[in-house]
Formats: sequence, structure tokens, C-alpha cells
Amino acid sequence: MSVVDKDAPPLLELIGICKRYLMGEVEVRALDDVHLRIARNEYVSFIGPSGSGKTTLMNIVGCLDRPSAGTYLLNGHNVEDMDDNQLAGIRNREIGFVFQNFNLLGRADALHNVMQPLVYRGVPLAERRRLAAAALERVGLGDRMDHRPNQLSGGQRQRVAIARALVGDPSILLADEPTGNLDTATAREIMAMFAALHAAGNTIILVTHDPEVAAHARRTVTIRDGRIIGDNLHAASGPRADAPAPDAGTSAAP
Ligand code: ADP
Ligand code: MG
Repeated sequence: MSVVDKDAPPLLELIGICKRYLMGEVEVRALDDVHLRIARNEYVSFIGPSGSGKTTLMNIVGCLDRPSAGTYLLNGHNVEDMDDNQLAGIRNREIGFVFQNFNLLGRADALHNVMQPLVYRGVPLAERRRLAAAALERVGLGDRMDHRPNQLSGGQRQRVAIARALVGDPSILLADEPTGNLDTATAREIMAMFAALHAAGNTIILVTHDPEVAAHARRTVTIRDGRIIGDNLHAASGPRADAPAPDAGTSAAP
């Protein structure tokens, strides 16, 4: 059972974050005065329609991009004080990314895709192999390590990407529309995997435009026009063994 310690210092804290883009003469406010705290071991979804600023927010949280204004504290470190090298280092150690289109290396097999983040950390080859193999076992792909992406199904590719995100034991798993390119059954499998990872103690941020996907998280942050317009805690994810079937109970719906 995962427990969020409300008194612990937040794993990440955004204070008055703004991100502006100039499109010719016009200023786009992709993020506008965003305040947010996320504790270790939370499972949070960012939900909002296309263009609301979700990816911009994820890129800032993941240290892929810097805010135009405001303060971002990651694990107590002020990201503003870091140069690009330090930022790349913290990104490599603290963040595991999962993307809609998997972003795997097409010419490398599953094992080498998963080993890749460890190269930047200077982990010796034998250790890289051992850790990558263990991560692939965790996502149920122990028997597919020598397969290249084009020899794997969409769901298997996304599981390779999840193994790659996890291999360095990051503080946060960031997933941007991770089920966007998957069929419903495969999407369900991937969401079950995130639930298991959360139960095992991982901190997860899931970005989606789909309320059904967002409902798997314990906390939903709603974004509209670059602002947070809702922040709700709710009961556990998806269909549960102890819950009645969706059409079993009395429904208020007409
Ligand atoms: P979402 O992920 O919710 O679809 P985005 O974060 O991608 O939203 O985009 C938020 C807003 O910022 C949109 O209006 C988008 O057009 C704009 N935007 C995002 N990235 C850039 C960029 N690199 N240059 C200019 N405008 C951008
Ligand atoms: Mg997006």
C-alpha cells in the first residue's frame, strides 16, 4: 500500500511558473502563474484539452525546458540555478520519460534501448546489461530482450520505453499521453502497469486529454489555457475487484 507523507517536503514545487512563446508579434501564454506541489509517491494526472499547456508543463517538470518566470524546486534544488549540463544531469538521474510515440532507437534491440540512459551516467557495461535486463523482466519482457522495436507490438514497445524510464531508478516517472497510440486493451495493460509501479513506491505524473485515463491516478490536476483550474483527490484507480460492475448498481443517469 502506498502512503503519501503530507508533512515531507514536496518532491517538486512550482511557484508562479509562466511560459511564454513569441509567435511573430503575438505572445502565447502556454503557462500562466502555475502553482503546484507534488509529494514523493503521488500518482497525479494532468488533464486538459489539446493546447491547454500539458506538454509545456511536463517539459518544465522534466527539466527539458525552462520557465519564462517563476521558481521550480526539484528535490529541494532550484532548477534556475543550474546550467544546461547540471540540468541534463539532474534530468538523467531524477526523471524517467515515457512518450506517446515510444521514442525508441529503431536499430537497437530492447536491451540496448533500456541500457541507453545508463551510458550517460558512466555505468560500466556489465552493470548496464544487468540493470537493463532486470528492468525488462519487471515489465514482462524478459523473453524479448533481443527484439528490435519493429519486431514488437505497440504495447511491447511502450513497455520497453517504461523499462528504459525505470532503469536508472528515477525520482519521478513522467508519461505524456502514454496510451495515445495504443488500442483499448493494450492501453488498459499499460495503465495496470503504472498502477503496479505506483503501488511499488514510484512517483508518477501522467499527462492526458482523456478523462478515463486520468481517472487511474489518485489526484487529477486540471489545466485550461495554461492555468490550473482544478486539483482533486479521488479514490483508487480504474475498475477494482471489490467494486460493483459498472452497470450493476442503481444509476442516477436517465
Ligand atoms: P497540450 O500538451 O496541452 O496540447 P502544449 O503545452 O503543447 O499543450 O501547448 C500549449 C500552448 O502553447 C499552445 O497554444 C501551443 O500552441 C503553444 N506552444 C507550445 N509549444 C510552443 C512553441 N515551441 N512555440 C510556440 N508556441 C508553443
Ligand atoms: Mg501535449
